[in-house]
Amino acid sequence: MTMKAIVKKQPGKGLSMERVPIPTCDNSSVLIKIRKAAICGTDVHIYTWDEWAQRTINTPMIIGHEFVGEVVDKGEGVKGFEIGDRVSGEGHIVCGVCRSCLAGRRHLCTQTVGVGVNRDGCFAEYLCLPSSNAWHVDPSIPSETAAIFDPFGNATHATLSFELVGEDVLITGAGPIGIMSVAIARHVGARYVVITDINDYRLEIARTMGATRAINVTRTSIEECIQELGMIGFDIGLEMSGHESAFESMLENMYHGGRIALLGIQPGMTQIDCNNIVFKGLTIKGIYGREIFETWYKMETMLTSGLDITPVITHRFPLDEYQKGFDVMVSGKSGKVILEFD
Ligand code: NAD
Ligand code: ZN
Repeated sequence: MTMKAIVKKQPGKGLSMERVPIPTCDNSSVLIKIRKAAICGTDVHIYTWDEWAQRTINTPMIIGHEFVGEVVDKGEGVKGFEIGDRVSGEGHIVCGVCRSCLAGRRHLCTQTVGVGVNRDGCFAEYLCLPSSNAWHVDPSIPSETAAIFDPFGNATHATLSFELVGEDVLITGAGPIGIMSVAIARHVGARYVVITDINDYRLEIARTMGATRAINVTRTSIEECIQELGMIGFDIGLEMSGHESAFESMLENMYHGGRIALLGIQPGMTQIDCNNIVFKGLTIKGIYGREIFETWYKMETMLTSGLDITPVITHRFPLDEYQKGFDVMVSGKSGKVILEFD
């Protein structure tokens, strides 16, 4: 039996639609029929075959790790999941035996294997996933929203890292994750939420999500915005651009005692003025992935208590038209792009 899948067949730019064997479940896995998937920046790196992808991806590989689907088969040892259950899933498969895993800090596993990066992913009609990575989706949550639980989880993990009630928050980078963080910061009671980017299309979406100010740093400085709002500096920083200049401007504009979640993947040797950290007494926390599954729990409880992240979804294409999805992602004129399988 074969299925359709979007495959990185060999090194070089591009992807192709192939027919490949349907995976079979081992004892502890579920077989998921994918209903909707979403394109991540990681998939775009693999598509364009940049330096990171060349170092990381072994071909051939079915890519994709953001999805929602339905359990259609399960191994004999699987508990808690039944055929027909609607599930999303955590894309980091952990070893279960390292110090972090044994201590229940699975997101800090030292041996993580990434779905759609180190093993076959979800841009296929079926995905085989350890049931310990599957997540039941609350019936009130639309499937499109469940399809972006992975990046929504990154946003949630970063944004809920610090107490936000009454605090002033600076988010650098209005990619999908930064945009969702605006809505989360609003939902949990921040005062001012300022987001920066160099892309007006994305800043506009951030505005609809409730940003106090969404500023294009090629035209307006963060300093000007601070003055306008009558502040001294930001209490909380969420670095979500992966750009050195954005991180540096954040450090310059933090209030003393401020706390920063660093999620954006910076070029390794980024230069910053460390004295900003020392003299302002800043705390910086690195964010990788999501807490498994406490972040997922908070994602659902926020969504079922009024949080709306749907404006971040800007495009939908049938699976067969995946190339259009990648084109619009590369153009920068998109939020989240959904691939529909039905
Ligand atoms: P994205 O690349 O779509 O968004 C980054 C945004 O930053 C873009 O809109 C870009 O225009 C903007 N930007 C560029 N220069 C800027 C500047 N000087 N100031 C402000 N903004 C600027 O990415 P995303 O999917 O939203 O992810 C955000 C970041 O998080 C990326 O760096 C991504 O690699 C990283 N990421 C980290 C994790 C993790 O687990 N730590 C997971 C997913 C993504
Ligand atoms: Zn581990």
